[in-house]
Amino acid sequence: MSVIIIGEADGSAIKPASQQAAALAAQLGDSVGLVFGSNSAASQLAAPRVVSASALESYDALQFTAVAAQVARDAGATAVVIAATAMGKDLGPRLAAELGWGYIADALEYDGGAWIRPNYAGKVLARLEPNSAFVATLRPNAFPAGDGTAGTVEEFGGEVPDSPAMTVGMESAGSDVVELTEAAIVVSGGRGLEEAENYDKLIRPLGAALGAACGASRAIVDAGWVPHSHQVGQTGKTVTPELYMAVGISGAIQHLGGMSGSKCIVAINKDAEAPIFKVADYGIVHDLFEIVPALMTALDD
Ligand SMILES: Cc1cc2nc3c(=O)[nH]c(=O)nc-3n(C[C@H](O)[C@H](O)[C@H](O)COP(=O)(O)OP(=O)(O)OC[C@H]3O[C@@H](n4cnc5c(N)ncnc54)[C@H](O)[C@@H]3O)c2cc1C
Repeated sequence: MSVIIIGEADGSAIKPASQQAAALAAQLGDSVGLVFGSNSAASQLAAPRVVSASALESYDALQFTAVAAQVARDAGATAVVIAATAMGKDLGPRLAAELGWGYIADALEYDGGAWIRPNYAGKVLARLEPNSAFVATLRPNAFPAGDGTAGTVEEFGGEVPDSPAMTVGMESAGSDVVELTEAAIVVSGGRGLEEAENYDKLIRPLGAALGAACGASRAIVDAGWVPHSHQVGQTGKTVTPELYMAVGISGAIQHLGGMSGSKCIVAINKDAEAPIFKVADYGIVHDLFEIVPALMTALDD
């Protein structure tokens, strides 16, 4: 089976989530990489042969779909895998429609021909066994990165259609250096923080000390303490980090829908009955205003 792995550049580096998808692609068959925007990132993708569309820097749905479809057809591929980043979630279904293939969204596991993906905000897990060509997006951090090495890079030589809505520039919406959905560690704060400034005093410094991305419950997003880009949950982002810290978050079902797949969950909440403790691997039943500074001191030592 020939498989296309679409890698995503983060500046001049390939995203870790793309390397995880590349490792899975290598399990499926002969993988061919496709990376947009950066030759340097293309040369890092763990695939034996990589096509670099270096002229296409900013995501454009029409152009990226057209180029990816050409690469897939030229390679005689019957599968495409992409990390389920913001780009992957947009490009994946478009590409599946363009190719007339099936689509597997936000896969969590692959098990010898079967894919596991969440339905109804993670309340049930669906098992899919595709019997024809498909595009799959893989949830970041759900799959391990392999030890595959990068291969040869060749420039894309096909047709790039004109787009009626060209992206002319991109600006980061927040100051966080770590993207929430791809972070290995996420520290999230909730209404237990009492006021907006405590997010900046406690959550952001703790996140910085751990090299973590900072998230939030909807309660504090709705209160205007942090932008919606920080929201974790059913109507926010889904995260699957190695470590998720929930600070002053009750653990409503809608919040759990976005973080319960985390590998290790640590909850700090003064209410021992808070539902977050049902999914937590480690629970600290105490006042967060004492625990977070104590953690910071311990991390400083
Ligand atoms: C359709 C719909 C979609 C939704 N989508 C989302 C979503 O995507 N994400 C999301 O998060 N929510 C979502 N919600 C809202 C969700 O139902 C909850 O209201 C929200 O998650 C609660 O946020 P919270 O845990 O910060 O606040 P609360 O539920 O008020 O919990 C605050 C917690 O802090 C603890 N606490 C208070 N003081 C301290 C202290 N000093 N030390 C330690 N602990 C303390 C309390 O014991 C409490 O458990 C959605 C709701 C609906 C109806």
